[in-house]
Amino acid sequence: MTSKNWVAASKVAQPAAVEPEGGFPCRACAHVNPYSHTDKGYWAGNRFYPHVFACQRCGGVQGEVGYLGDLSGVVKQEWDQGECAESDQRYFDLNYISSQGEHRTHGWFNIKTRRITQTG
Ligand SMILES: [Zn+2]
Repeated sequence: MTSKNWVAASKVAQPAAVEPEGGFPCRACAHVNPYSHTDKGYWAGNRFYPHVFACQRCGGVQGEVGYLGDLSGVVKQEWDQGECAESDQRYFDLNYISSQGEHRTHGWFNIKTRRITQTG
């Protein structure tokens, strides 16, 4: 964890509140989102991901995308080129399946390019 982005995220982190029924705390900012992992999804481009969720406070995306090929619709597994404004950074923590089994990928990405700005 080497980037200033992590510091920025830490600043907004709050102590985890008591998790309401069906809610989940964001792994980036600890905001407890009021929906469950099964009742709300995420649009990326023209595609709907039923098991991915965006934090209502920081916009971090978390959840299950399906297969490796589906992952690139949310976060392309490529480094972002050039500068990314801090306001365009979003956290991601996503699980996907490949022929080798289940995987987790997490870090920060540029919401405009959907490319990775930082891993971990
Ligand atoms: Zn959050």
